[in-house]
Amino acid sequence: MKSLALLLALSAPAHPHPAVKASIQYRLCVDRADLSGWTVEIRLRTTSDTVRLAMAAHPEYDDRYWRYVRDFAVETSGASVTRVDSAVWQIVAPPGVVNVRYRIALPPAEPGPRASWRPFLTPTGGLIGGPHAFMYLLGAEHLPVIVELSLPSSWEIASGLRDALPRGGQGTRRANARWWVYAATDAATLIDSPILVGRLRQWRFLEGGVPHRVVYWPLPTATPFDTIAFVSWSQRLVHQTLALFGGRRPYREYTFQFEDGAYSGGLEHRNSVTLGAPSEELAKNPNAVIQETAHEFVHTWNLMAIRPVEYHDLDYRTQPPVSSLWFSEGLTMFYADLLLRRAGIQPSDSTRTAHLERLISRYVANPAYGRFSAEAVSRVAYNADPGALGDYSASTHLQGELIGTMLDLTIRNSTDGRRSMDDVMRLLFDRAATQRLDGRVIEQAVESVYDCDVTPFFDVHVRGAAPIDLNRYLALIGLTTRATTGPAVFNGEPERDLRVWGWEPQGERGVRLVISDPSSVWGRAGLHSRDQLVAMNGVAVATWPELRAKLQGLHLGDTVRVEVQRPSGPFEAAVIVAGFERPTVRIERLPNATVAQRRLAEAAIF
Ligand SMILES: [Zn+2]
Repeated sequence: MKSLALLLALSAPAHPHPAVKASIQYRLCVDRADLSGWTVEIRLRTTSDTVRLAMAAHPEYDDRYWRYVRDFAVETSGASVTRVDSAVWQIVAPPGVVNVRYRIALPPAEPGPRASWRPFLTPTGGLIGGPHAFMYLLGAEHLPVIVELSLPSSWEIASGLRDALPRGGQGTRRANARWWVYAATDAATLIDSPILVGRLRQWRFLEGGVPHRVVYWPLPTATPFDTIAFVSWSQRLVHQTLALFGGRRPYREYTFQFEDGAYSGGLEHRNSVTLGAPSEELAKNPNAVIQETAHEFVHTWNLMAIRPVEYHDLDYRTQPPVSSLWFSEGLTMFYADLLLRRAGIQPSDSTRTAHLERLISRYVANPAYGRFSAEAVSRVAYNADPGALGDYSASTHLQGELIGTMLDLTIRNSTDGRRSMDDVMRLLFDRAATQRLDGRVIEQAVESVYDCDVTPFFDVHVRGAAPIDLNRYLALIGLTTRATTGPAVFNGEPERDLRVWGWEPQGERGVRLVISDPSSVWGRAGLHSRDQLVAMNGVAVATWPELRAKLQGLHLGDTVRVEVQRPSGPFEAAVIVAGFERPTVRIERLPNATVAQRRLAEAAIF
């Protein structure tokens, strides 16, 4: 269904640009008696007899909530509705006021903890709004909108939306519901602002003179945790991030939306973030989700404000591939780690050197980084099917963080420690209002910070696929790596080579294989990514959970007969489950490291 949706989207006509002059009002109602979803009403004032409403696709996590739109109706006499695309409804109605109504019927909860950015409703609150709730009017994306929320009376609200009424946006209290009114300067702002609602715990602090709000939605069964530590560490993170950007920030106020019952992971927005923060984990360690928090918070600058050239602000179609995600994700990883250390928050198990050792160990273990450029890996990081790199897999986060680290060392070395990647980030942010990000823009920013030619570096490692000679850059700060290779071990036991997994393509029956390294026993047995799995040892396997259970049941030395189907016909492989080798990298100080190099290493927190 995913590829079908894409085809539909590609073949859809371009946006009509009628002279739509509309004032747009939204109303979202949550009824405590029916938490299976919510109702949205849209009131438009149009000068055209044809208008189109669309559900936006998120550039990274497109949850395709157009699948859950029910009872779409236009309550205007003489109006007709046609669904012209999976995500687009066309309304023909006399110009003037058009009232639209639909319901979002939330899909059943998936097993296990939720993803923090997906909407949900419970008797004590939930997450509403965003691309999962609001359609936008094509051709009128720039117009300001007003949003009314009708919620159970005991609930509160936290979102990045601006209050439209005095006293916190709260409207008149009715019998069992409260009305709240918010405003957004345009449709993209509305859709980029998820709304956390319910019985919330809230704290506020000022940093750089700007209000920041930490909001926590607890499960009714929440484990108590040290909220003072939790909030104060968040504040220290904010302080360091603002310091990195010289106090300049892309928001007037900021809201952290933490959710109990969701796994640790988040999604960034322009002036808010949704983050999974299980109370039972916070009870063990109030910093349990600080690394995720740091990552998403840095994205406020590096992705939301310093925006890749390919990103559309608002589109119902799948976003095009982005070639600079190695920077948007990788440098965000780089700063998430660095800023926490600057804030005095040492990840419990790791020095920065140990952190880099782990990154480098993963990097040298994976042949993909010597085969695919940073830009090629970026382009398949989101909205691409598994197996997009054939029998290889790669992380744009990892590749980008190492490239960023090596560029940082280069800048520090060339400027005797006077400049660093911090200056590149500040420069890119200062230019963000007028300049979108791509490889050349990053290259020019680096060059203007330290007056040197980095085109060869970008040619070879960003646009080209040559692996980085890490020792060359580490030597600049008096360090080097030593790699040893030995049998891979997990929990003290020899690790089975399970470098294969499966995925179930939308709209297709069955499961396809993904080989993550061609040198794995699976790759060497002749299997390839995208092979359609038929059976293992004569037993049909039709889903990823079935395949996973079969893989987990394997022992070293087992032989597995794997039957697959390919466009060229059936194929059968005999795979002997074996262990495999894995490199471990240690970073050491060069015996001849100079005092100047040691100083540079210290400044980079190595
Ligand atoms: Zn990210």
